[in-house]
Amino acid sequence: MTAPRYVHDCTDCVYLGEHEHYDLYVCKVRTLMAPIPTLITRFGSDGPDYTSMSMIVFPEHAELVAISMPHMSEAYRRALVALAKR
Ligand SMILES: [Zn+2]
Repeated sequence: MTAPRYVHDCTDCVYLGEHEHYDLYVCKVRTLMAPIPTLITRFGSDGPDYTSMSMIVFPEHAELVAISMPHMSEAYRRALVALAKR
């Protein structure tokens, strides 16, 4: 797996590799508001240069996400594999 292209400062994130021009992560931090891991797709090194989605939200929107954010679908697929190994 290649190293991330962009700066990402969360030490609780697991890098999942790149997809197109995104670095993919799954964040293991769990809070009351986000009890399920979060998918993060980063497209730049500035703080706000990312999109995120809770893994709990993904399944009900899977078809739409596959069309509009294929990088997020890829992050979800890889996150399931990565989390299953732990
Ligand atoms: Zn994180």
